Amino acid sequence: MDLGLSGKIALVTGGSRGIGKACALALAKEGADVTISFTSNEIAAQETVDALRAHHGKGEMVRFDVGDAAAGQAAIDALVKSKGGLHVLVNNAGVAIDGLVMRFKDEDLEKIFKTNVFGAYTLSRAACRAMMKARWGRIIMMGSVVGEMGNTGQSAYAATKSALEGLSKSLARELASRNITCNVVSPGFIDTDMTKGMTETMRAALLSQIPLGAMGSAEDIADAVTWLSSERARYVTGQVLSVNGGLYM
Ligand code: NAP
Repeated sequence: MDLGLSGKIALVTGGSRGIGKACALALAKEGADVTISFTSNEIAAQETVDALRAHHGKGEMVRFDVGDAAAGQAAIDALVKSKGGLHVLVNNAGVAIDGLVMRFKDEDLEKIFKTNVFGAYTLSRAACRAMMKARWGRIIMMGSVVGEMGNTGQSAYAATKSALEGLSKSLARELASRNITCNVVSPGFIDTDMTKGMTETMRAALLSQIPLGAMGSAEDIADAVTWLSSERARYVTGQVLSVNGGLYM
């Protein structure tokens, strides 16, 4: 099935590792010209760019902290100038900082909102100008099952992911007339660096709650992101697509 992504210009934030890397590779496989962003792990970012270029010779990386609005704006301006546009933005970069409400520190609250929400907001704002010009665009937010159902010890993380749903639905309404869609992909528990720290006991308890009986892979999420980014999903906007093995339904 041709997804109509050939030649589309895409930016995947946090595309150096995990889910973002899988999304970047899946988009490139469909013919998109993909740039990934990262913030610290240059070796992982370079490995991803090498893998991107193996598809059709294209693939770039750009380093900036998504919590820095000016740096994000500059990165998008440079990308639009060098590539001639921007069609797909995947706001994937995110951090998880866990802790019970009673003990959660203000600086952690600030950091998690800055990265997960402020970053997605300011980058979407920066990206939509080029998409409006092209009268075609796809903005995808990386939510979380935790934002849909809540989780003990993850109140701040859950709040940031719920916030992305409100942001996405508002953007979907504001940008629909310009043929720009905005949706959230909401992963369940996915095998990446982010979930590596779970103990065997935690993992077993979690698996007992997942009807499909396994954690998801980064590629499971990338498939949903790629479809939502495509022409095939042109009539889908303002939605939350849960990819969670049935953990929350
Ligand atoms: P990961 O393996 O920890 O990768 C995180 C990525 O985000 C890395 O590329 C990292 O860059 C980048 N990043 C982190 N902070 C950044 C910042 N301030 N500025 C720019 N880039 C930044 O995480 P993951 O598991 O793939 O998760 C990706 C997204 O999916 C996150 O939004 C996460 O909340 C969401 N999610 C994950 C799961 C899960 O089970 N794994 C479930 C639901 C939702 P560096 O390589 O430079 O550090």
